[in-house]
Amino acid sequence: MINRWLDSEAPTTGDLAQRVYSGRLIGAERQLVLHGGGNASVKTTHTDLLGQRIPVIYVKASGADMAVAGPEGYVGLRLEYLKRLSVLETLSDQEMINEIRTQILDFRCPNPSLETLMHVFIPFKYADHTHPDAILTLTNQTNAEAHIRGALGNDVVILNYITPGFKLARAVHEAFSENPRCRAIVLMYHGLITCGESARESYDLTIELVSRAEEYIQSKVKSDLLLTVAGQVRATPATTLSVASQRYKAIAPIVRGALALRTEDSCHRVILNHLATEETLAFVESERGREVALTPPITTDYLVRTKAFPLWIDNPDFDNIAPQLSKAIARYRQQYEAYVGRHKMQDGLLAFDSLPRVIFIPGLGAICVGKDASAARIAADITAQSVAVKGAIAAMGDYKAIDEADLFTMEYRDYQHAKVATTVELPLCGHVALITGAAGAIGSAICRGLLEHGAHVVVTDLPGEALDGLVGQLRALYGGEHVLGVAMDVTDAIAVRGAFAEAVSVWGGIDLLIPNAGIAMVSTLEDMSLEAFRKVQRVNVDGTLNVLSEAARLFRRQGSGGDIVMVSTKNVFAPGAGFGAYSASKAAAHQLARIASLELASIDVRVNMVAPDAVFSDGYRRSGLWKDIGPDRMKARGLDEKGLEDYYMSRNLLKASIKASHVASAVLFFATRQTPTTGATIPVDGGLPDATPR
Ligand code: ZN
Repeated sequence: MINRWLDSEAPTTGDLAQRVYSGRLIGAERQLVLHGGGNASVKTTHTDLLGQRIPVIYVKASGADMAVAGPEGYVGLRLEYLKRLSVLETLSDQEMINEIRTQILDFRCPNPSLETLMHVFIPFKYADHTHPDAILTLTNQTNAEAHIRGALGNDVVILNYITPGFKLARAVHEAFSENPRCRAIVLMYHGLITCGESARESYDLTIELVSRAEEYIQSKVKSDLLLTVAGQVRATPATTLSVASQRYKAIAPIVRGALALRTEDSCHRVILNHLATEETLAFVESERGREVALTPPITTDYLVRTKAFPLWIDNPDFDNIAPQLSKAIARYRQQYEAYVGRHKMQDGLLAFDSLPRVIFIPGLGAICVGKDASAARIAADITAQSVAVKGAIAAMGDYKAIDEADLFTMEYRDYQHAKVATTVELPLCGHVALITGAAGAIGSAICRGLLEHGAHVVVTDLPGEALDGLVGQLRALYGGEHVLGVAMDVTDAIAVRGAFAEAVSVWGGIDLLIPNAGIAMVSTLEDMSLEAFRKVQRVNVDGTLNVLSEAARLFRRQGSGGDIVMVSTKNVFAPGAGFGAYSASKAAAHQLARIASLELASIDVRVNMVAPDAVFSDGYRRSGLWKDIGPDRMKARGLDEKGLEDYYMSRNLLKASIKASHVASAVLFFATRQTPTTGATIPVDGGLPDATPR
């Protein structure tokens, strides 16, 4: 492992600044910590409001990622009182959290790491705690102690597995009392602690010990066992990355559908992430892959992300995987419920859903599952680490894991739950929506509405600046992992298929379709050019049909229902003179949506429409449709732009100006399944008696 400390970049003054610097070096090293794992601290002083200098400790905040954490990622605590807690025999999690919180310097800070008291009890200024792959490779074996001594010598202290929290903190305290010269502790099935009087000293020691472990493992690995298939050593896995990816695209919607938990009015859905590195592919097709994959996890750190055991699909039939999958998932759920039943749950906690988070499939790799894209990606990164460590162990000895009871204790622990729980689960969490014509005024407002409700959104429109600008804006507001921009012309069936396929490969499927793309033109029938009429038809009718057909096929494959909410118009019910091409084409599209409601009800797909009156803009984003036809409508009515907007306002009962956000709210009413309704239309027009749907 490379030592990345650079004197030219390291701060020379400031205890916390140096802590932040070496914390970032550690956090950026995937083979040391993953996603908010590991923690670090520094002991220093703080001048309080009365001018007194008091001893304090800064400990990484729980769940904060050291790779990016600045000073705000570390929580300052008064040190003296916390140090004295080492005399206690026991301390429950709740009591420990209370004692810690009462010593925080800034009341707005989040909880510091679960391992805070461990840092408090370490008698050195700086301490780094990591979960290095190489150390775990040594600790998770039958002959662990001999391997650890062989690699790291006699200077390190080895501690048996102890549940992180007060018990571990006390054990670390005792270890330092008995071995005052100790600078490093190896924690069985858990990781490494190093410490020192400077940030550099502690960091150097971490890198040195991990490097020694890596060299030792290299020298002990007999053969690359994971590439032994049917007694033959292969240089590369039999499945290529492109075959694995094709297979994944074909079955992802089926897997995702099988993992959807449906209730009468809602559906708990998940996002998928395909892990298909050469290493993973070799692992799933190796002789011992299944046996090794199903062993307990290497540490207790990420159980809330991956669960205590994965699902393995034997001899997958990629052409007809649905029956195999549903049987395997049902079996997994029974096993998980039995595992929960074998242990005592803390009061006040509920069991997680019993679905798998990691599914190994020979010939495909692993499918990792999360409530959103980031959770699915984290599960995939942890799975990749687990494959690497378990693979190395299998190549040099026999894997040995933590007891099931210890796994359960860590999976069902208040502190761990807080890391993954958001305060309120948003109604479209885990859902994927695809919207056409997204870059317009109504489209962009609907995108925002969907994202605010937790959905992952495929933002489609014709290629160009309008689409790129919107995608950039939405990513900045709602996070890159929830927004996928795809350039797509709705009139091109192949492009439509491509956009759906892209959503499947990124998130695993689609649950909600919003056909919204539309164009208009002004002409009387007398003067209508057939060419221009056909152009409007192509976008408004053919385009709607293309996305409806593609969605219907996907929803059927997924088998977990779905929703379609079409943006129709008040013109379907009350057409306007000089507006024949638009009114006729939207009426045809509206009728297609009603037909879809009849054809798809049996697979629990609901199809509804919203019918707005004229919407001119969404903030500064002008409606493209009104930019084209506005001047003609103004001329026809003898009005200027402002006059035209006033005209539309004054003609409805409520004298309301119709905003894009109103249309988005109506879409969300259907998308969140508030009522058992299909084939229906909500007018968004301020009340136009002539346009009331009937
Ligand atoms: Zn740890």
